[in-house]
Amino acid sequence: MKNFLFIAAGVLFLLASCSKIPITGRKQLNLLPESQMMSMSLAAYNEFLDTSNVVKGGNDKILVQETGMRISSAVTSYLRKKKQMKRVKDFQWEFNLVDSDQANAWAMPGGKVVFYTGILPITKDQNGLAVVMGHEVAHAIARHGNERMSQGLALQLGGAGLAVALSTQQAATQNLFLQAYGLGTNLGMLKYSRKHEGEADKMGLVFMAMAGYDPREAPDFWGRMKAMSGGQAPPEFMSTHPSHETRIKELNEFMPEALKFYDPTKAAPSSSLGTPNSNGSSGSKTSKPGGTGKTKKKSGDPRRKN
Ligand SMILES: [Zn+2]
Repeated sequence: MKNFLFIAAGVLFLLASCSKIPITGRKQLNLLPESQMMSMSLAAYNEFLDTSNVVKGGNDKILVQETGMRISSAVTSYLRKKKQMKRVKDFQWEFNLVDSDQANAWAMPGGKVVFYTGILPITKDQNGLAVVMGHEVAHAIARHGNERMSQGLALQLGGAGLAVALSTQQAATQNLFLQAYGLGTNLGMLKYSRKHEGEADKMGLVFMAMAGYDPREAPDFWGRMKAMSGGQAPPEFMSTHPSHETRIKELNEFMPEALKFYDPTKAAPSSSLGTPNSNGSSGSKTSKPGGTGKTKKKSGDPRRKN
């Protein structure tokens, strides 16, 4: 009888933690309280920043932050319209650029995002940044970290004991978080499943489109990624993908859906990255009047490569 009650409590708990992901509508199981995810994330993120070369100023930093703010606020107003604000209730968006050769970017729960300078030559401009930013924002909105950890916990602890264990084993949960995000080794390298990567790609296309960035540029970005990544260890957002070709194919298949969300009137001026920061123009956002006339040309132009 006691066992039965335990199982019943476990089942109720599982049902209570089931929620639907925006855009894809997939149901997911998140066992960890979001508040707990957020506080673990905040601590880990701040510790990472304290021990990293955070870029303090300059045009690239401004562009990363601007792209992040545009996309996160577009998503927030979408969620508000859809009455899904609960998803981002305690989010505190933060976008930092860190000096490192790695061609990578990642996001932690609660909207804590990091870009490495090593990815900027591949993103090339703000639209390229938006591709990666949309993807990372999507991981956070979709609570992929929580889901991944929940799967890990469920495996470790089993169904019925889970509810009890979560409330009593704070230390174990904390450890799992650190493990999941590979702290101490490759921070942020949470191994998402292929399902999560595909979902973040699709949601990312929609999110960038909502913010006025042309999602049709995304396959070009992945093409550049492919060209640049020969022989290198794959960064987070491609770690579990089979191939660039498949990814590009899947993005193109989803494109008509993403374009429904595309609002070119919101388009940001497209500034190039990696331009030496002119000290004079620090006050205003972008000194380049790139305008919204996105050239929908082929991607192979060898403009700049550093
Ligand atoms: Zn990813």
